[in-house]
Amino acid sequence: MQYRCPKCQSPKIMPVAQPGETAARPVVPKSLVFLIPAVLLLLLLVSISIALWLFSNGAGQTLQIATVVVFIVCVIAGFMFYRDLPDFKISMQSFMQSQKKWKCRECNNEWEV
Ligand SMILES: [Zn+2]
Repeated sequence: MQYRCPKCQSPKIMPVAQPGETAARPVVPKSLVFLIPAVLLLLLLVSISIALWLFSNGAGQTLQIATVVVFIVCVIAGFMFYRDLPDFKISMQSFMQSQKKWKCRECNNEWEV
């Protein structure tokens, strides 16, 4: 099956929930639940550090330690996610395949697989 709108070829499609049918949800690995906030936090800390470095005399020691700690958490979570990735892919694929009704967010076209 194709994951594109048959009408406008847009990849911005979403599954339509079917009433009375509990859709199989993809199993999101715990490592991903850790990874996303950790990466966001790291980006935030890095941008604060850069801002402090540009506009004052460098980032404080606490901020530097926090950045390093969050960076290590990111690396560990990233590695765990890398190991979970094959399972996550299979789970995502079966989720995509179990979805029969789709809707396009570009042109509102609805179709069934
Ligand atoms: Zn479309």
